[in-house]
Parts: sequence; structure tokens; C-alpha cells
Amino acid sequence: MPDHLSGADTLLKDIFGFDGFRPGQQEVVQAVAQGQNVLAIMPTGGGKSLCFQLPALMRQGVTVVISPLIALMRDQVRALREAGVEAGALTSGNTQEETDAVWLALEEERLKLLYIAPERLAAGSSMAMLHRINVSLIAVDEAHCVSQWGHDFRPDYLRIGELRRALDVPLAAFTATADAETQVEIVQRLFDGAAPQTFLRGFDRPNIHLAFAAKDSPRRQILDFAAARKGQSGIVYCGTRAKTESLAQALQEAGHSACHYHGGMEADARRAAETRFQQEDGLIVVATVAFGMGVDKPDIRWVAHADLPKSIEAYYQEVGRAGRDGAPAETLTLFGPDDIRLRRSQIDEGLAPPERRVADHARLNALLGLAEALKCRRETLLRYFGETQVTCGNCDLCDTPPEVFDGTQPVRMALSAILRTEEWFGAGHLIDIVTGNETDKIRQRGHDSLPTYGVGRAYDKRQWQAIFRQMMGHDLIRPDPERHGALRMTDAALPILRGEVEISLRMDTIRNAPRRPAVKT
Ligand code: ADP
Ligand code: ZN
Repeated sequence: MPDHLSGADTLLKDIFGFDGFRPGQQEVVQAVAQGQNVLAIMPTGGGKSLCFQLPALMRQGVTVVISPLIALMRDQVRALREAGVEAGALTSGNTQEETDAVWLALEEERLKLLYIAPERLAAGSSMAMLHRINVSLIAVDEAHCVSQWGHDFRPDYLRIGELRRALDVPLAAFTATADAETQVEIVQRLFDGAAPQTFLRGFDRPNIHLAFAAKDSPRRQILDFAAARKGQSGIVYCGTRAKTESLAQALQEAGHSACHYHGGMEADARRAAETRFQQEDGLIVVATVAFGMGVDKPDIRWVAHADLPKSIEAYYQEVGRAGRDGAPAETLTLFGPDDIRLRRSQIDEGLAPPERRVADHARLNALLGLAEALKCRRETLLRYFGETQVTCGNCDLCDTPPEVFDGTQPVRMALSAILRTEEWFGAGHLIDIVTGNETDKIRQRGHDSLPTYGVGRAYDKRQWQAIFRQMMGHDLIRPDPERHGALRMTDAALPILRGEVEISLRMDTIRNAPRRPAVKT
């Protein structure tokens, strides 16, 4: 290690009071201290702030920290000052006195870290000041705020690239958002497209058991899951507000201590639920995604999804609320065709621009791929986030590897039924066609004379439902909101239809399915 970096361990202990680095921190600290451009992706709570605070102390001059969260900035400044570090913040929350003190410390060249809110970058006076002082590093917290398709977009973040160019100093960007698209946008907007050194570490939470199950009788499945964990604190995430209330009641009736939580509740009631959850042992909160942002309870022992989350990122974040203390924690995510339909239509009917919708479908697809995974969930999940070295043994598929079978033939039957009816029908009617179920609708439309009629009798209705669900999971078919949810084929299905590739399906959800259906397409 070069001389000027040898102080890192001492500073870590003396200033921050830590005995060692967390996974990933040391490499990032080194790269930032050496003055490289860095993009570091670490999960929430992974210890990102140390990765710029420590290098700030190792470098000459001032480190400018840009963060959108005023309360968080003030917290960090307070903690740094208590540790004897000269730090200050320029935010709209400042008193005049505080601002004067920061300016004075800057004039006297005492300040090591200057926290600044992004909207300050719009003010000419702040820019002039930043040019006058000796800035040696720009650190950008919550760097995903620069992404225009993200939920946290801050227009002022677009000025950061300009600032970096003008000051010509290294920039270190930090975020917990790991999807590839956001990374590309960060690199474009903050680094003018010149690839920074990128670190992605610490996303694995090995103590959390990952499991998915096909939605069968959801209420029963959740009640059983909770019953096996009676007395432990847990969260059940639901897709609708109404469901949080009914499921919380069902849990209470089953003898659990449970309450509901959603964004439609009065602020007081929400706060009361949060406080109860924080303080009580063994409370179950049945909630929409509104619950969790401010929740910092280390001993949540389980998280269940009564409905499929909206993306793989949301899934990771929600299950990640379990087991923060490092002790074993369990999760269960239920999913069914209705969930997939709902999530797709939410994306299609949302107000997001088309490019964003494509990205949202991709994020949902990644989650469905995880739900229908044929091997290790953790590997599939972390591969999505870019982590390649994964050991697991702590997911349902490692516990019991699923039996798979060659599903090419039934999938082609389904696709053929979809195409021959010109992509105008939903799964129910399509299943009637392939199983040769002569309903009124079949007769009226003359679908009993289709070549696909009755070719799939080797599977019953339930098994076909599982096949259609897995096809949605593999994004071979999608409901079209403009056709009342009629299933349409995606481009991904073409190679299967043409016989260029085969597809494996999971056997467990297609109980009793024959290995080789004795029919032809
Ligand atoms: P992030 O910004 O990544 O969400 P923080 O920087 O706020 O996370 O750090 C999360 C917590 O971890 C803080 O309480 C911090 O003090 C603690 N922490 C950070 N690095 C270490 C370390 N090397 N050893 C022990 N605790 C650490
Ligand atoms: Zn596994």
C-alpha cells in the first residue's frame, strides 16, 4: 500500500471507532483515496458513507459531499464533528449562524467535508464559492437520483457532471440501486460516459432463506407460514390496502398479534403501528409497500409476500428487511398468474414514458425469472445485481432441487393456439381449446375445428394453468391491456415456436404431468 494510504486503518479505529472494514469498504476507500473516479454500489446499511468520509481525511483540501437527504447530512455532520472532524453543511435547513460558521471554516481552510444539497448547485454564489476553495474530491450520495427514469430523480443532480468537469477533480458516486440501466445512466451523466472504477459488493444476505411458492390458496399459505413462526416478528406484504386489513384480521383470529399498515391510514395510526412494531416482540405487520422505509428493526425474523412484488429490486429490498441482526431469517413469496397480469397492467397503464415502461417490464421479468428459477435462487438474484461469486445452500431450490421436464411440446401447443386465434383470447379460453373442452364460446367461434383443438389432453386444466404461468414467467407470452388482457406472444417465444430451442419447465407445479406427452402438435 502506498504511504499516503497507510493511515486508513488508524483513522478507521481512531476517528470512526471501527475495528475493521465491512465487505467491500476497503477497496473502495483505497480507490477513492487514490483519486480515481469510482462508482460504488452497496446495499443500504452497507456502510457507504465511510467510503468517502475516510478518504476525505486522507486527502488534501475539501471533499464536497452532495446528498439529497438533509436530515441525513445533518446527522453525518454532527457525528463527524463529535469525532473531531471539521465538517459542515450548506442546506436549506441551516440557521444563518450555521451558514456563517461553514463559510468561515472554508475561508480559513479548516473544513475537510462540505455537505451540500443539490439545489444549491443551481445558485451562482455556491458555484463561485466551490471554484474558489480547494476542492479535491466530489462525493455523490444516492447517485441514482441522476436517473430520469428512477423514482428519486432530482433535476439538480444533472448539474453534478458540469461541476466535475469545471473543477476537474475525481468523483466518487454511491448508490444502493444496482440495476444495470441505472448504472449506465449514472456513468453517462456523472462521468460523461468514461467508465469509472466500479465496485459492487455486499449484496448477499446469507442468513436470509429465500423461497417462492405458486399461489394456491394464499390466505391458507400465509397462515401456515406464520403459524410455523408463532411469536416471531414478521412482515406480510400485500398488493392492496384492503387485503392488508382482511389478512391482519385472519392472523389475529388465528391467535397472532397482528396489525395492518398502508398509505391510506392517518399519519397518527401509521406512526402508532410503526412504534408498536419497533417495541413489541412478535408482532406481525400486514402492509403495503408503504411500510418499511423508516423501519429499522434488526430482529425481523420473517417476511412473506402474499402478492408478487413489482420488480426484482423491490423484492430484494423487501425480503432484505428480515434478519438485519445476522441471525437466521425466512421469507416466502407467493406468485400466480393474476399477480403477473396485475403487475404488467400497472406498468402499461402507468404514466411513465415508453422507455421507462420497457425497463419496468424487464425488472418484472427478472423477478419472474427468479420465481420460476430452475436452480439456486440466491445465485439467480445476485447474478442480476452483478455479483458472481455466490455460495448458498439457503434457499428452497438448494434444499430441494426442482424436478424439471422438457416443456417444449406443450409450450408450442399453447403458442400455436394463441396464434391460430390471432392473439385475442385469455388463458381460460386457450386452455379450453388445447384440452378440447367444448364450451359455448368454443362452438360459437368455431374453435373446435382448429388443428390445435384438443391436442393438449395429456394435461388437465390445472396443469395447463401452471404451464401458462411458467410461460408468463419466462416472458414468452404477455397479456395485452388493449385487448382486455388477451395473451400475446413475445419475440422471446419465436425460437421455441420455430423449433430452434427447447424449454425446461418445472414439474412440481405440474403435478402428475407425464414426462412425454403422447400427442403431437
Ligand atoms: P449506507 O449509507 O450504506 O446505508 P451507512 O454509511 O449509514 O450506510 O452505514 C450504516 C451503519 O454501519 C452505520 O451505523 C455505520 O456506523 C456502520 N458502519 C459502517 N462501516 C462500518 C464498519 N467498518 N464497522 C462497523 N460499523 C460500520
Ligand atoms: Zn440456493
